Amino acid sequence: MQSKEIKAHHATKKLDRKMFISIKLKISAVIFTLIGVTLLSVYLFVIPNSANENRLWLEDVVAQEVRVRANSLIPELLEDNIAVTWESLDIIKSEHPSWKHIELFDAEGKLLYPLSVNEPLLSNYIIKLEEDISLYSDHLATLKVWVDLEPQLTQLNHTLPLLLVAIIIMSVISTTLFLWWINHVIIKPVIALSYATKKIHDGDFKIDISTPRNDEIGELATNFKSMAGEVQRHQTETEKALIDATKANSANEAKSEFLATMSHEIRTPLNAIIGFAEALEMGIGANNKEERNERLKIIADAGRQLNNLISDVLDFSKIEAGKLKFQIEPIMPSDVFRACLPTIRQITESGDISFTGIKSANRKILVDHARLEQIILNFISNAVKYNKPKGSLEFGCYAVPDDHIRIYVKDTGIGIAEDKAALIFSPFDRIDLSNSGVGGIGLGLAICKKLTESMNGQIGYESTLDEGSIFWVEFPAAETADVES
Ligand code: ADP
Repeated sequence: MQSKEIKAHHATKKLDRKMFISIKLKISAVIFTLIGVTLLSVYLFVIPNSANENRLWLEDVVAQEVRVRANSLIPELLEDNIAVTWESLDIIKSEHPSWKHIELFDAEGKLLYPLSVNEPLLSNYIIKLEEDISLYSDHLATLKVWVDLEPQLTQLNHTLPLLLVAIIIMSVISTTLFLWWINHVIIKPVIALSYATKKIHDGDFKIDISTPRNDEIGELATNFKSMAGEVQRHQTETEKALIDATKANSANEAKSEFLATMSHEIRTPLNAIIGFAEALEMGIGANNKEERNERLKIIADAGRQLNNLISDVLDFSKIEAGKLKFQIEPIMPSDVFRACLPTIRQITESGDISFTGIKSANRKILVDHARLEQIILNFISNAVKYNKPKGSLEFGCYAVPDDHIRIYVKDTGIGIAEDKAALIFSPFDRIDLSNSGVGGIGLGLAICKKLTESMNGQIGYESTLDEGSIFWVEFPAAETADVES
């Protein structure tokens, strides 16, 4: 087994063995209840013994009562008042239904109460108690009482087990209440905290722990919340730092790539200029005027190429610094196309590309003439650069909804892959340098985007790989519809 699998296996086993606090508490409650029931059973088993003890205790209590009552007769006996003594004894009898029979003898042993002796038979429950009534060692009388212990004893023997059952029921109820309370006060909040910890572990910081309580658990929840907040803050900061670092890194990479491309783009026309100028200087390949003019044209083209390159870089840095000035005015797109024509002819000629100009919108737009020309020429230059041999391009304009005019350049070139869409308008990004051999530093479209947006326009493109692309810009039509003359 792989070490990872072994770890996972142990973790699962650990999880199986894990016992939740709530389960532990329930088990303890069951154990305590079982102990209670066992104790009760033991007690019930021992009841016969305790019944004896109950009887002894009861006999004692009754004997004391007899003694108290006997002594209460002393005043009547001293007065020798038989009638009152009788009366008192009758009252005592009526107050003690379990005193089945009472006899009172004087000091000489003569029966004073009742008139005749009618002793009840002694039984298991009927006991006979005899109490001497004396005052300062003067023997006054003897009281004999036959007491039936049965009712009191039965009551006593039944009440105690019932009391015990009641105590056990009460303990079960109080244990349940205690468990509910523990569950409410400790277990639930702990489970909520444990759930929140898991959420944070999974990267979800939206935790909801209510902390209205003013105890340790409440404090724990509050501290936990602030800890989660801190962790989230640190994580956000770390992520931001990471994004910044990545951005800085890719900006750095783009810059290095730009410098490499830039050097290449500068060196190529420079080499042409130096090479052909030196050749002319040495009189090589300049035998006639035509040949010389051809070389001079190459030098001039290379110079222009360099000039364009530097203009692009300057334009971009000016736009970035917000220093580019625009002269926005109502302009007829066809006028801009017309101004572009000589350059279009020149660049399509060299690329062996045919072109068609289509004009269908006769509305003026609010733009800077020179900047729109720059945009269109950039589109056309790309349409030539990224076209196929003997390809074609088309440019024109038409009205689109919201009173806007769209100006487009369509080519039959290599097209752009869908996943490259995000890079198209970002500076210094050339989609696929391997399609190179094609000159460029990846600034053209970025400049077009900035120029378009600075003139309240929109820029976009549609493309199908290997079939061609359409690049377009849209600008608001000027308010007064001015039909082209
Ligand atoms: P550059 O042409 O100097 O590389 P751009 O900003 O003009 O820079 O263009 C950026 C990238 O977009 C180009 O490198 C190219 O890969 C792609 N691209 C632009 N226009 C077209 C087009 N018409 N057809 C195909 N790809 C294009």
